[in-house]
Amino acid sequence: MLMLIDAASLWYRAYYALPSSIKSPGGARSGAVRGFFDGLAVLSKRFSPTGMVCCLEGNWRPSWRTDLIGEYKAARVAEDGTEDTPEGLDEQVDAIERLLPALGVATASHPDFEADDVIATLAARTAEPVAIVTGDRDLFQLVDDERARTVVYLARGISKAELFDAEAVTAKFGVSPEHYVDFAVLRGDPSDGLPGVKGVGAKTAVTLVNTYGGVAGIRAAAAAEASEMPARQRQAIGEAGDYLERALKVSTVVDDVELPLVDSALPTAPADPGEVAALAGQWGVESALRRFDEALAA
Ligand code: MN
Ligand code: MN
Repeated sequence: MLMLIDAASLWYRAYYALPSSIKSPGGARSGAVRGFFDGLAVLSKRFSPTGMVCCLEGNWRPSWRTDLIGEYKAARVAEDGTEDTPEGLDEQVDAIERLLPALGVATASHPDFEADDVIATLAARTAEPVAIVTGDRDLFQLVDDERARTVVYLARGISKAELFDAEAVTAKFGVSPEHYVDFAVLRGDPSDGLPGVKGVGAKTAVTLVNTYGGVAGIRAAAAAEASEMPARQRQAIGEAGDYLERALKVSTVVDDVELPLVDSALPTAPADPGEVAALAGQWGVESALRRFDEALAA
């Protein structure tokens, strides 16, 4: 099984899960680095992947997405225009992004795309079973039983990660994975800045999707002369046509990003032992790296 890791999801969970008192020998916060590699160890032990790629946020807020919906992720933009990140995380992300290649763990990213799109692309390229490790709900759209694609959802933390197949997605949201995006754009997603359709909450979104089969079907039903839809709903959906079209493009992951070939094989030895030793010492994460190494070897 190929494990595709939404690396930012994992280091954010690690950052918030570990106390700020965890410090490097030099006194910098280091919980995210330690928790990230401990997380990889836990996930490797639990799922025994045969391949692994850490997918990076080459562009956390691509302009082609904000051109469609200006509010997309706008709440997470800092004053200087970059992503608003919590104190002491950026330096740790730097360390993680240097440690991964030094350890020989494959990474993948593209300067115009989010990790979501990189994950979708790598999943599309393989016939192997895929487990997507993420805390990003958007990726539920990739769950596919026939192709053995699951999401390992990190919402409740790394050790309590939940495995989602199509049945689990349907049980949680009321819609199947292929309609997850329809559901999300109708209901809206405040954390991503998607307003949703006026008067349509989660319950109504589920009913609409399961009755009419996706945004296209819902819009057709709202526009039809004879419709069983309440007048107010027909009007709201009619008026939201432009939004829905744009939001679908924003929320649907791109699965044909131009990425170089990625060798997802698990490392058997560090690619750059000197760099690993230097960073491990600087950040005080020798034991976490050893646990990760042991988990891969098991
Ligand atoms: Mn994402
Ligand atoms: Mn996303």
